[in-house]
Amino acid sequence: MSNAVKSQKSQKKPAQNTCKRMQALIPGYLEKSLTLHDAREFTEHLKSCSVCRDELEISYLLKEGISRAEMGETIDLHTDLEDMLDETENTIQYLTQYNTAVHLIEGTAVFVLLACAMLLFMI
Ligand SMILES: [Zn+2]
Repeated sequence: MSNAVKSQKSQKKPAQNTCKRMQALIPGYLEKSLTLHDAREFTEHLKSCSVCRDELEISYLLKEGISRAEMGETIDLHTDLEDMLDETENTIQYLTQYNTAVHLIEGTAVFVLLACAMLLFMI
């Protein structure tokens, strides 16, 4: 019995830790200053976690809501956040492709340099 309780607790803990970690990323997310890796993890987590989504909504309202209200604009929280998450996913996809391309170019450049060095050595 006590073992069963223990294992239930240890199963819950990682999820809570993940939420804590994700919620710590919220300010960075709203400032668009997360690393590619963090941003990917963050958006993936928010798809399945309503707790962190709520936290993001609150932070977003505090950050955007006030400045928009000052400019007399209305705010559609749900649509805004969906758009923002979609935009992040597009950016992640783009950056991932870009990174892959950079690695390919780097690989090619190293190969060309090696080939030149070998040619020079042979001459
Ligand atoms: Zn969470």
